[in-house]
Amino acid sequence: MPELPEVETIKNQIAPHLPLKVVSVVYSEVAGSIVKDKEFSPRGKVLERVARKGKVLLFEFEGGLVSISGLGMSGGWRVSETKVLEKHTHVQIKGLKENGDTLFLAYVDPRRFGNLHHLKAEGAQKWLTRLGADVSSPEFTADYIWGRLQKCPQKEIKPFLLEQNHFAGVGNYMASEVCAHARILPSRRNHTLTKKDARNIEKAMKIVLEGTVKSGGTTFSGGYKDTTGNAGEGVKNLVVFYQQVCGLCEKSKVIKTVLKGRGTYHCPRCQN
Ligand SMILES: [Zn+2]
Repeated sequence: MPELPEVETIKNQIAPHLPLKVVSVVYSEVAGSIVKDKEFSPRGKVLERVARKGKVLLFEFEGGLVSISGLGMSGGWRVSETKVLEKHTHVQIKGLKENGDTLFLAYVDPRRFGNLHHLKAEGAQKWLTRLGADVSSPEFTADYIWGRLQKCPQKEIKPFLLEQNHFAGVGNYMASEVCAHARILPSRRNHTLTKKDARNIEKAMKIVLEGTVKSGGTTFSGGYKDTTGNAGEGVKNLVVFYQQVCGLCEKSKVIKTVLKGRGTYHCPRCQN
């Protein structure tokens, strides 16, 4: 599943090609289940910037128009000088770069849980209010975390970290990894955590993001690929997720549990 580091990688690979004047947009026959809003068509518009909030990509066009792209379980964007012929390509944007070269931006999504919203400025702004602070932004501070913990005292910290309306960008492997680096058991209730724990969560998030963004995102069976179709290599940075032995103490066996239906990993020695 594409998470923040993967989406950041895709963003960084698209950005150097902009601005891009969109010549045509072609949808697959089944793209209707992905394209949820069509307040405008990108055709004929200039794509000026690409941004990210949490796990969501924002294609910013001239005139405040925004295409919001959520990648779901298996979505991704490809950048190519030639038409993308990959199976499960649902949106193909053909554009002209400033130097006159043709560029294709293609949305590929085998499982089709992704979504795309072409929204005017107001609609985009409203849509984005459903997301909490992006965990890689300066908004994500110990004070912010502390405030959110107070709002939901009975929730367990690891599933809570996955709630995008509080922490935009956190995915399943990151949540286990953050709890490990913060030395907090994933099942701890929020009301048992201290301000120090909130500071440790902030630091842990930085460590996890640093490791994964640098290596181009993490890949698991399920298949994240970057815009060139290459799989990331981030898996080597993980300390508990899908690990046999804890990467922090290098002694204890990692324990797998299920919290709110999601596989969760922790070290009984390092976390309490
Ligand atoms: Zn350990």
